[in-house]
Amino acid sequence: MHRVTIDLPMLAPGLVPRLSVLHFGQAGSGPKIYVQGGLHADEAPGTLAAHRLAERLAALPEGAITGEVIIVPVANPIGLSQRVLGLHLGRYALDDGRNFNRGYPDVSGAVIAALEGKLSLYEDANTRLLRAALRAAIAARSPVEPVQALKRALLGLAVDADWVLDLHCDAEALPHLYTQPGFVDDFEPFTRLMGARAILTAEASGDHPFDEAISAVWEKVRAAFPLHPFACGGIAATVELRGQQDTEPAFSDRDAEAILGFLTHLGVLKGEAPALPEAQCEATTLAGCSLIDAPATGALQWHVPLGTDVSEEQVIGEIIDAAAGTCTPVRSECAGLFFARSQSRQVLAGQKLGKIAGREPLRAGQLLGP
Ligand SMILES: [Zn+2]
Repeated sequence: MHRVTIDLPMLAPGLVPRLSVLHFGQAGSGPKIYVQGGLHADEAPGTLAAHRLAERLAALPEGAITGEVIIVPVANPIGLSQRVLGLHLGRYALDDGRNFNRGYPDVSGAVIAALEGKLSLYEDANTRLLRAALRAAIAARSPVEPVQALKRALLGLAVDADWVLDLHCDAEALPHLYTQPGFVDDFEPFTRLMGARAILTAEASGDHPFDEAISAVWEKVRAAFPLHPFACGGIAATVELRGQQDTEPAFSDRDAEAILGFLTHLGVLKGEAPALPEAQCEATTLAGCSLIDAPATGALQWHVPLGTDVSEEQVIGEIIDAAAGTCTPVRSECAGLFFARSQSRQVLAGQKLGKIAGREPLRAGQLLGP
């Protein structure tokens, strides 16, 4: 393993955020895998799983890795530094309020322009050109603003990878995963190993999160050159490792083990691939994922635990305005698995309270929460 550090633009004189990038294996010797944790800096489970994964990879004998694995366990040092009156705020940049996992640049125009007239009928040669054009398109960007520079640095490490796992968590949740519909079968060994309880798919969820910025550019290049073959690449997912409080060693060990097992299935690690547990869910459309709105303001009591298969219009909780003496039921918008919920228990009308993975589309446009 070797470690490379990337200094980002300073947040203040004397205060320079730094990315630590761990490289395992040999570039060009096989598939490139990119794993990052903590892009939302208040989501420790992803960082912990990435750290445990790095420990396990570092302990492997020489030559055990075919290909290259890059791990950035702390993907957002800027977000980690954001503390206000004792509270850590890691989801949005305090400077401009933007979500750290939204608004990644689309470099497909530059990549397509760079490949015009250079492609052949040879998949390997085309894929090499594509990877080089992807790296060049990101390298050509030079934002001076720290958050934009962070996004560029992370994208530059991942954009030419075959596989990308962006490790997150929800507030309180069961393990689940977001990806493209076309990648569900590719990720099946991993979703079974990680015990995913929901797999939410969308061609485009609406605001260009990290994983989609990578998969979309590969897809747009393929669509622009339909007569020229390319290898599969940019197969990316946002992996949600339960909830923010779920930092027990057993969880991070299990998550690292699931990624190691997946790498063995991909042939990146030598050895016998682990048997796959039964799938715990089928993929459902992200457009069918109900974001539960608080119907009133007050103290929230959930009536059902996470993991409940709820029916449409089922009362799943209650909001109590004790001052007025009123109780307002919280009903499910659709049938499906209640798999994630907010940590708030004093809630405001209209606030998002949780998520139910339904089967039928309910929404269009911006499909992710804020
Ligand atoms: Zn997140």
